[in-house]
Amino acid sequence: QLPRQKELFGHPVGLYILFFTEMWERFSYYGMRALLVLYMTTSTVLGVDDRGTGLGWTDQEALALYGWYTMLVYVASIPGGMIADKLIGQKKAVLLGAIVLCIGHGVLVLTDVWAFYTGLGLVIAGVGLLKPNISTMVGGLYKEGDIRRDKGFSIFYIGINSGSLLATLIIGFVVAEYGWHAGFGLAGIAMLLGLVVYLYGQKYLKSVGSLMKVEKAEDEISYGKLYGELPKSPMQLTVTAILIVLSIVGWYFMGWGYGLLFLFITGIAALMMMIYKDLPSRIFKDRFMVLLLSFIMTIIFWGAFEQAGGLMNLYTDSKTDRILFGMEVPTVMFQSLNAGFIIIFATIVANYWAKRKLKGKEASSILKMAMGIIIMGFGFLFMVFAVMEFDKSGSSSMLWLVFAYLFHTIGELCISPVTLSFITKLAPAKYASLLMGVYFAATGLGNKVAGILGESASEFGEYAIFLGILIFTSAVGVVFILVLKPLKRLTHGAEDNEREML
Ligand code: GLN
Repeated sequence: QLPRQKELFGHPVGLYILFFTEMWERFSYYGMRALLVLYMTTSTVLGVDDRGTGLGWTDQEALALYGWYTMLVYVASIPGGMIADKLIGQKKAVLLGAIVLCIGHGVLVLTDVWAFYTGLGLVIAGVGLLKPNISTMVGGLYKEGDIRRDKGFSIFYIGINSGSLLATLIIGFVVAEYGWHAGFGLAGIAMLLGLVVYLYGQKYLKSVGSLMKVEKAEDEISYGKLYGELPKSPMQLTVTAILIVLSIVGWYFMGWGYGLLFLFITGIAALMMMIYKDLPSRIFKDRFMVLLLSFIMTIIFWGAFEQAGGLMNLYTDSKTDRILFGMEVPTVMFQSLNAGFIIIFATIVANYWAKRKLKGKEASSILKMAMGIIIMGFGFLFMVFAVMEFDKSGSSSMLWLVFAYLFHTIGELCISPVTLSFITKLAPAKYASLLMGVYFAATGLGNKVAGILGESASEFGEYAIFLGILIFTSAVGVVFILVLKPLKRLTHGAEDNEREML
């Protein structure tokens, strides 16, 4: 069990160290991400546009690379988690990730094209090492059954979003003033600050993130040995075969991108089946299954939610009346609403669920996630109204967007930090980081789905897409609520008897 830790505002001090480390990491990630597509598509030379020369790519080329980048950055969490579980533990993996990120952003300051690709590669590796493992460490700060764990994750989530908010507010000005590479440099400086915070805070993180000592043979991870567990049963073979066929068909009919995507999914599915077999008891196996099932909600949630940066962003830009007090509100400002709402509502939502639970009412993670997906989906109703208004009068009010983002955020708060916390309650210790990695890969996949959905708007129209998302996500949420009981049974009481443990 955990030794007594120093506390601040009712939580271990370590939480705030992880909070600020992650805040700066997310600053660098979202800051850089905000520049990426614009940098790739800008071709003007210095003097015409102060931001300097971009890469001069077409929109399509830039968006394709952007889609791969945002997916890979999260898929990299799988190897990142494996390295932590097997080789160095979470704490060192976060340190290594932070260093790699500093180097990556540093390389992006250079103007050569090789530097661009190398920098992106390093950022992908760095996030892969840092993101899943810092999240697992948050869970490690709390004892089993401590009801504060979910709240801790919500606080951590405020850190994430403070980073993204600050970055998106500041970086545009820096780029306008000093050029693209100064923007990338700013991301690097932010990450350096994160590294400093993390190094300073090591004394508060003594009890978490170390490599697990192998005491029993079953605790030993041998990814090599897992080969022996390669899918063999008829059911596993069928699943694998279907996925492989999908990869080939995808490749043939929809291009190599889709082929590769399905191949990734095949690999992840095979790995999951091998790990399932390797788990020592029924309890572990059942809990593992619940987690994987809940990741279905993850993929669908992010697939819908991430319309924010795509379709909803375009809608804001071209079809929304953005005049407020005689001045035009810039489109990018709407991207800050989500982070702003998170900072305001995170603890309110977490406290609501905690109070419910203490009163003995149903407040399991699965219920919260299902409610999250429904509430987020409901946000699209406002987008449907917006489109209806636009069709009638040629313009639509920005209030629709504010309400849409509000519901999206409340939904996000019910599902996203909750899933992080849920993983740290259910995952077997030896695969804890790997499973966190798989979760982030699922969010990455959701991002990809969002891109595909957004593209199809040109074919089906915004009304159909927004309404479709509303109906589909509500249906998925309802299905999960209907099977709440059996799913909860599979958790074997992991969330029963949660209480305050100081
Ligand atoms: N916005 C959150 C973050 O950056 C969630 C991202 C995700 O899970 N893909 O951590």
